[in-house]
Amino acid sequence: MNYSILSFFLPFTGYPYQGHEVACPGCGHENHTRIAGIDRRLKRLPTVACDFCGLIFTNPMPTDAELSTYYSDFYRFDYQAADTAPKEKHLRKRRLEAAGRVSQLEGLLPGTGRTLDFGCGSGEFVGAMLALGHDAHGFEPGDTYGSHAKSLYGDRITVNGWQDVTYSDQFDLVTCFHVLEHLSNPVDALRQMAAWAKPDGFVFIEVPDLGKTHPNKGFGALHFAHLLGFNQHNLIVAAAQAGLAPERIVAPTGIIFRKGTTEAGSVEAEAAKGRALSEHLYAGGKMISSYFRYQVGKLTGSNKRPG
Ligand SMILES: [Zn+2]
Repeated sequence: MNYSILSFFLPFTGYPYQGHEVACPGCGHENHTRIAGIDRRLKRLPTVACDFCGLIFTNPMPTDAELSTYYSDFYRFDYQAADTAPKEKHLRKRRLEAAGRVSQLEGLLPGTGRTLDFGCGSGEFVGAMLALGHDAHGFEPGDTYGSHAKSLYGDRITVNGWQDVTYSDQFDLVTCFHVLEHLSNPVDALRQMAAWAKPDGFVFIEVPDLGKTHPNKGFGALHFAHLLGFNQHNLIVAAAQAGLAPERIVAPTGIIFRKGTTEAGSVEAEAAKGRALSEHLYAGGKMISSYFRYQVGKLTGSNKRPG
């Protein structure tokens, strides 16, 4: 490919991909509204919002081949830690997050359950569940982090992508933290999570929030690796396509689902709320003004949450 590292850093130029036009990856609706032409690095990135559920997504969407080129050649420039062994500071932060997620599960699982972490990164959540006596497993496609997890937890960790992993037994709980927004086919992934969960099992999803979380970064929230921008409502809509219904909402975009159907009426109601929340982000050129307000807020420290 004739695409250099230098071009990757040049603002107002595109990313190394052609992509293809897609319907909404969350709900399948064909119509969408263009909301931004650039991302937080001021590079060209065509971003739209679904006219039905308000899901924000890259369109044209990169193909699987283009995504794998991006992850092998460029991802490390977007996430500098991604290529080297995880640093202690990173691991400490991840262990705290894992402890927080464990506490959100309070009372949900039997004494000791069988659990699977979908995209387990460096393995902190698997470690936290093992410490509680659960039969915890995980897989991670990223070699550096996956190998770190495997060095700690051995056969409980598989270093591979979700389409290439198989398990012979189902799980009481499947978790997926900050992975879904990287996938061009989130509903297929959610269906696989539902299939891995036992009939009375749970699927716990957490994604970045492009809905209510303060502060609104405008187009500063957009970047190439995040193909999808969810809010609570369009996350529920996407999960409904995969036969998952919300059981416990633990954060704006942290939801524990159970297997079950969501009535068409409530899917439509969630989609309307998702759309309204998204429109609130970008209506009237707000993506641009929010971005600059956010950047100024970073300089002055006023982005910090009150309290
Ligand atoms: Zn949609």
